Amino acid sequence: MSKLSKFNVMHQNMTALAPMLADNEYKSRRPQMCWKCQQDKPLKGGKMKFFGGGLRRFICKSCVDEKQRATTNQPQPPTKGNDDGIQP
Ligand SMILES: [Zn+2]
Repeated sequence: MSKLSKFNVMHQNMTALAPMLADNEYKSRRPQMCWKCQQDKPLKGGKMKFFGGGLRRFICKSCVDEKQRATTNQPQPPTKGNDDGIQP
């Protein structure tokens, strides 16, 4: 009896969450135009950037990955005035 009522509570929680999850799934399934490569790409893994005035731009996953690779490969800018008093 106690097992059954526990299950019922869980089931009710799942039902309450279902519409929200379905909405998220629907949104993530809709392809968006990536403003970098100008192609319809799935939202999953990509990034949505919001600007003022309701403007938003979507960057697909491959473009995000590419940008990340470019930034990590860039040499670090030399630090100035950071070695004062600190000697290795
Ligand atoms: Zn792209």
